[in-house]
Amino acid sequence: MRRNKRVITAAGALAGLMAVGGVAASAAIQTSTEPGFTGDRSAALAKEIKSAKPRNVILIIGDGMDDSMITAARNYEVGAGGRFPGLDALPFTGAMTTYGLKVGPGPDYPIAYVSDSAPTASGWSTGKKTVDGRISQGPSVAANVPGEDYETVLERYKRDGRLVGNITTSEITDATPAAAASHINARACQGPLDMASCPSARKSAGGKGSIAEQLVDNEVDVLMGGGLNRYSQATDAGPTVLDYAQQQHGYRVLEDKADLEAVTSLDDGPVLGLFAGGNMTPMYKPLVATAPPGAGGPTTKCQEADRGNQPDLSTMTEKAIELLDNPKGFFLQAESAMIDKQEHGSDICGAIGDLRELDEAVQVALAFQAKNPDTLIIVTGDHAHSTQIVGGVSDGKQVATLQTADGDPMTVAYSTSDTGSDHTGAQIRVAASGPQGANVTGVIDQTDLFRTLLGRTPSRIPGPRP
Ligand SMILES: [Mg+2]
Ligand SMILES: [Zn+2]
Repeated sequence: MRRNKRVITAAGALAGLMAVGGVAASAAIQTSTEPGFTGDRSAALAKEIKSAKPRNVILIIGDGMDDSMITAARNYEVGAGGRFPGLDALPFTGAMTTYGLKVGPGPDYPIAYVSDSAPTASGWSTGKKTVDGRISQGPSVAANVPGEDYETVLERYKRDGRLVGNITTSEITDATPAAAASHINARACQGPLDMASCPSARKSAGGKGSIAEQLVDNEVDVLMGGGLNRYSQATDAGPTVLDYAQQQHGYRVLEDKADLEAVTSLDDGPVLGLFAGGNMTPMYKPLVATAPPGAGGPTTKCQEADRGNQPDLSTMTEKAIELLDNPKGFFLQAESAMIDKQEHGSDICGAIGDLRELDEAVQVALAFQAKNPDTLIIVTGDHAHSTQIVGGVSDGKQVATLQTADGDPMTVAYSTSDTGSDHTGAQIRVAASGPQGANVTGVIDQTDLFRTLLGRTPSRIPGPRP
């Protein structure tokens, strides 16, 4: 049986689990050629169940990251029997439903079995379901009719005096980061010149403004991602959003990796990192699936892309944690956004690379948690997508073949469309580590994450019998 030397077995993952809160998170990154684990895990798992409210909360999202995409990326990066050292080392795993609502007269709304990233991120951000395209607002009779604003986890933590961060690899105004700290009826209303679907939200109409404006009006302490073009737009009052952010809210603007490295505290004001005009560049160059016999082949490997001076997600995550860490605690949402966007383009390499990046961000969070065990880490997706691992090149509308870390060929298919691909409606994986992390186990709904992220009323865990 061929095994890749980077394989991390379940035994390695268990060793990591036992190290959490104690020795070092790097113990989670063990290599072994022994498959499986020995011995009963009950005691190790019981030790990981902690009922105190977390001081710090780190939520890591892979947009479009479902079990099928995780498996494809794992096969490629570490082999079928391997384990990701971050994502797969978290002790608690559950399944999470992600359905949403459709517009209607209410008060009951029809179910949307397939959701986009706006209602899903609104679900964990606010604890309530809403309709496609909507950002932390309730449902309504039509897409262009605003719903009720719902307060978000980030806003509550901010109100509570904690530091808050919101980082992504897409535009910072895209739906997932938008839902953490803005409220608007249509996700398209990203900048002040993009308000066609949200006329009543314009500042000149007495509204809260575009997503770009609301994110800085909320004075999120660390905001980082792509989206410079939205911030270069003129506000209704005249200056660009960027000027407004600097002049009205004291934001310091970062443009590249060197700027990111140079900032070491929030003492001089909040930080707005805009590292690309639009979305940031994925780790790997695209390999786009095509009609059978498809793209790639049994010896095809993904190629690293040139990302110029853009930082990667784990570097942004590490810096965000460094800036936010304080005695009162912090909340950070970090998103690997381009998994979904590359899946929409039937690009298997782009999606795999950004899932690997998510895993590296999880490793950064675990290393921090090892020194700060009162930190809750939750890692999940927002909705399922259409990447399928299939038996052969004739098993889908668009297919691509890669050589995995096992040395064997893996074919993936995208079959929701003839070109490109769309979201699907299956439940997805949610995983956690740290205080109250056990609340993600079993089958939960996306909206259940809301209270776990805020910290639930602690229960009493029975002590050992005398
Ligand atoms: Mg997203
Ligand atoms: Zn999508």
